[in-house]
Amino acid sequence: MIVVMKSNASKNQIDHMITQVEGLGLKAHVIIGAERTVIAAVGIKRDGTKESLAIGDGVAEVVAISAPYKVASLEVKEERTVVKAGSLQVGATHVGMIAGPCCVESEQQILQTAKLVKAAGGTALRGGAFKPRTSPYSFQGMKEEGLELLAAARSETGLAIVTEVVATDDVPLVSRYADVLQIGARNMQNYRLLEAVGNCERAVLLKRGPSATIDELLLAAEYILDRGNTNVMLCERGIRTFETHTRFTLPLATVPYLHQKTHLPVVIDPSHGTGHSFLVPDMAAAAIAAGADGLIVEVHPDPEKAFSDGYQSLSFDLFTNMMEQCRKIAHAVGREF
Ligand code: PEP
Ligand code: MN
Repeated sequence: MIVVMKSNASKNQIDHMITQVEGLGLKAHVIIGAERTVIAAVGIKRDGTKESLAIGDGVAEVVAISAPYKVASLEVKEERTVVKAGSLQVGATHVGMIAGPCCVESEQQILQTAKLVKAAGGTALRGGAFKPRTSPYSFQGMKEEGLELLAAARSETGLAIVTEVVATDDVPLVSRYADVLQIGARNMQNYRLLEAVGNCERAVLLKRGPSATIDELLLAAEYILDRGNTNVMLCERGIRTFETHTRFTLPLATVPYLHQKTHLPVVIDPSHGTGHSFLVPDMAAAAIAAGADGLIVEVHPDPEKAFSDGYQSLSFDLFTNMMEQCRKIAHAVGREF
């Protein structure tokens, strides 16, 4: 349910309604908008809850939230969420550009890539230090040493760091180095991990599971929001279908669909979404034309020698060209890039 306060409601009236909501055993999420304040009352509701909240002083109306997700819903918050993390700004007018290698491999590799990403106009550096790999025999990442190299790349370039956290126990460690915690596709429904990042101060990039529906993605985001962390970006990274020409199938309709359901920004990953570097620039351009709030793209100084995902990683030249193309499209559709 949402308790919509009158536009002239006083702070005392708002505070009183928060206490009332909590007294009914519900959690109160307060959203202060330009026009009005709303209190989303979330939890298991008892009979008569709506009626008892509706008579509160300063209350305009109490309405049910029809979506299964609540705080993520556009019904609760009409204004677009803008996620800010260091140099990265994603949402509303801003298109964020996150780029870097699949995984951190060496000091030279990550520093060289960071400088290129910065020079081409990127706004954040990606790079996995903890890698969730299909095979236990594949490279698992440089772990804390990788995080240290990412932090060094941030000092050198000023770029915000986006890196994956694969386990609940690692959240404090990764949070010490990262600006944005990435929840990988394989972990989208790891609810204890979602709660752990929901409890921390860092922004979160939540990737869609390859077999998850959009409602499941939004309910996964709800776990993070419910813990009080509202700096959440949703990422479409492709789903598994019968098609074999691409690694996954990248549904760009996710962008306008999510924009009609949620205020959270939507980021597209055309690298994992296609699995082929030769398809990435066109899909990146299409994503921006469709209204994406950000892109996350894999770039490597020498894709042939990459420890992981080299076949879908852009060379520096391809990345620089892609950025020019994306910038033109972003400006044509009225976005800052
Ligand atoms: C990645 O970003 O390198 C990654 C592992 O992505 P996903 O979780 O989408 O497979
Ligand atoms: Mn990858």
